[in-house]
Amino acid sequence: MRLKDQAVIVTGAGRGIGAAIAKSLAREGAGVVVNYSRSGAAAKGVVRDIEQAGGNAVAVQADVSALSEHERLVAAALERFGRLDILVNNAGIEFRQPFLATTPEQWDSTLSVNLKGVYFLSQRAARVMLSAGGGRIINISSVHDTVPLANRSAYAVSKGGLGMLTKALALELAEHHIAVNAVSPGAIVTDMNSASLSKPDLRERLLARIPANRLGGVEDCVGAVVFLASAESAYVTGATIYVDGGLLLRRL
Ligand code: NAP
Repeated sequence: MRLKDQAVIVTGAGRGIGAAIAKSLAREGAGVVVNYSRSGAAAKGVVRDIEQAGGNAVAVQADVSALSEHERLVAAALERFGRLDILVNNAGIEFRQPFLATTPEQWDSTLSVNLKGVYFLSQRAARVMLSAGGGRIINISSVHDTVPLANRSAYAVSKGGLGMLTKALALELAEHHIAVNAVSPGAIVTDMNSASLSKPDLRERLLARIPANRLGGVEDCVGAVVFLASAESAYVTGATIYVDGGLLLRRL
């Protein structure tokens, strides 16, 4: 076990990639705060799975875009586990809308969850980590931190910003022994995209762009996160690991 007796917060961990990350970190011995916004029953299911496998977890409701709710997450880690070693900023939203029709409300909600919430939850967590001598912040970004995506401009802007957030925080926090890194998935089948990926023509077009010739599953994302959470990555900060089956290699 690589994370024995450590404590972690995973945002948006009731389903999708976040749920797989929460379970994988628990398997490595970490106590996990399983954050959810609306998927309470699913988050409790993740906690049950972790406990049945011999791990330790607690489900905590908080909307990461509401800065006043962040304290609840940090307090839960400290109350339940007595510490906070790792924050995984996984919660994210996207919507499909051409740039010319995107509303200020859509922009605000996307940036509030995907970027502002990450920034200020990281600040709160880093203050605790700093006083304990160090920690890890891992941001779940996207290949769209690098390449734009038509009809999802606000999402791509938020992930591009998350790439710079990762580097900027890494720069400032390295002297406090807090490493800040990102994992950027490619096409991973989850609720976020299952509707569009079930369309055969779109699926085929996407597959043609992925050198590994398959879509990713949530389990494909966990290895990079465990590595960045563990002592094996002690000298890694400001980095982004792309988990995309080579998608970014094929631009034409
Ligand atoms: P998903 O299945 O749609 O799940 C989204 C998660 O984010 C849910 O757990 C949801 O929690 C949580 N969330 C949304 N708004 C929240 C808020 N305001 N506060 C707290 N939690 C909130 O998406 P996913 O595919 O697992 O995506 C997870 C991350 O990976 C996202 O950051 C996404 O951008 C990134 N990503 C995904 C892909 C992909 O292909 N799937 C590719 C690249 C990057 P509730 O259900 O409780 O609201």
